[in-house]
Amino acid sequence: MIKVCKFGGTSMADANSIRQVKAIIDADKDRKYIVVSAPGKRFKDDIKITDMLYRCYNDVKITGSCKVHFDIIRKRFIDIVKDLGLDLDIESVLDKTEEQINNSTSPDFAASRGEYLSAYITAAFLGFEFVDAAEIVRFDSHGKLNQDYTDDKVSNRLNGVEYAVIPGFYGKNFQGEIKTFSRGGSDITGSIVARGTKADLYENWTDVSGFLVCDPRIVDNPKVIKQITYKEVRELSYMGASVLHAEAISPVMKRRIPINIKNTFRPEDKGTMIVPNDQYVNDDSVITGIAGKKNFTVLLIEKSMMNAEVGFIRRVLSVVEHYGLCVEHLPSGIDTLSIILESEQLSNGVLNDLVSEIRENVNPDFVHVIENISLIATVGHGMARRPGTAATLFTALANANINIRMIDQGSSELNIIIGVANTDYEKCIKAIYDAFN
Ligand code: ASP
Repeated sequence: MIKVCKFGGTSMADANSIRQVKAIIDADKDRKYIVVSAPGKRFKDDIKITDMLYRCYNDVKITGSCKVHFDIIRKRFIDIVKDLGLDLDIESVLDKTEEQINNSTSPDFAASRGEYLSAYITAAFLGFEFVDAAEIVRFDSHGKLNQDYTDDKVSNRLNGVEYAVIPGFYGKNFQGEIKTFSRGGSDITGSIVARGTKADLYENWTDVSGFLVCDPRIVDNPKVIKQITYKEVRELSYMGASVLHAEAISPVMKRRIPINIKNTFRPEDKGTMIVPNDQYVNDDSVITGIAGKKNFTVLLIEKSMMNAEVGFIRRVLSVVEHYGLCVEHLPSGIDTLSIILESEQLSNGVLNDLVSEIRENVNPDFVHVIENISLIATVGHGMARRPGTAATLFTALANANINIRMIDQGSSELNIIIGVANTDYEKCIKAIYDAFN
């Protein structure tokens, strides 16, 4: 049996948490391939090593030297090595790293060194082989993960290696330079290693006991989701549930490797099991989770007889494409089409230009812009076979006096997405949680 374990930043934050990581690994000989993050926060206002490394990159750009911030990083790693009682010449590795960052023009290279050093130390502490992610994770010329190449590299490199520690978050691009995933990307590395080694289980160890039904900052003590399907997690992660990187699902999904979200500081908790549809053990829950994001803009385009005008939607969307914008949702009516976009993309005059160009291109009767909208997804594959789910949801919102600005139910019937004013966001999530729990 092979288990791949990924430990996040809080699990790697100091010597105590790394000792806890070792206890977890020692407790199960199947935990063979360990992927680690850079040391994260030890307390609320602490600064993550990765953030500090981005500062190093900026220092080099401005002053030519990263010394000021690198000294803080240096101290943190030296303290970890000392507190773990390791006989490791970390100073010379740190000297070399500082020099490399000073001589590099890449933010990705600087940022990747947190995971590199974290894995290097953890490998020594566990007595496992250190395998650099640069050897096994490869990106293509579009900056996307080259899954096939990476798959081969992972399986060839780890074949015959019984136990290894691998840094998360980065790999190499097609030109051989270090490139990182987006923030939180060590989750993706864990998933890639699980896939390449044909693991039986991917354990993702973090500082919470699994996915919660909704954000605990909005609802007190929401329930933990015991099991959830890959697709449901994709929806929730995409909509802002931050436990697992949204791109960490796809590599294991094709190989049907389950993911178990576990808590390093409460290893006895069962956590959340993420499984393929047919491994989901049916229970009575109608909805699995609720997640949402604030700050969207709706462009409501109205034109009478729109439905009879061939190419109308295509022409609107080609204007949107021309501005390089990602469309979040596209609900439509007989004479109306709404385009929902992340507001951030529309700053610096983009919104005005976009609306003018749509007016010129499709000559609508009316374009109405609604800003400050939140999208909230209520996710659950149980909804499809249960009449009355929408009624429960909308009744709850009506009772809470919330005005719904948009409704979109995907054809998979896996979720119902609604748009409400930003000011109603928290109230809305609370009302939905209460209605289903
Ligand atoms: N250290 C990186 C970050 O802070 C990647 C990770 O932890 O997954 O985003």
